[in-house]
Amino acid sequence: MQEVLCGECGKMINSRDDLYTFLSMNGIQALCSECYLRSQKRIRGVRTPINSQSTILIMIAGIVACLLLFIWHPSWIWVVVALIAPVIRSLSWFLFERKLNA
Ligand SMILES: [Zn+2]
Repeated sequence: MQEVLCGECGKMINSRDDLYTFLSMNGIQALCSECYLRSQKRIRGVRTPINSQSTILIMIAGIVACLLLFIWHPSWIWVVVALIAPVIRSLSWFLFERKLNA
């Protein structure tokens, strides 16, 4: 098992339950649950973690929307747009989640 460190406090993250990944200016960032809760209060809004169930729903909705747009207005741009969320989700898994036990 490899180490995953919190991007803010530097604490070692031991399980997937304690891991929250986000898209930031520096790419994908991992946060521990404490820093996640603190950042939610700081920005006064809800930032959906990449590795949450709701992201999967958003991803599915996005793919369906892009599929419909592709049918109505055939263009490769919809294929590219539809792939953005799955690629980000896969990167989050590849960079952080695969290193941790469930
Ligand atoms: Zn932290």
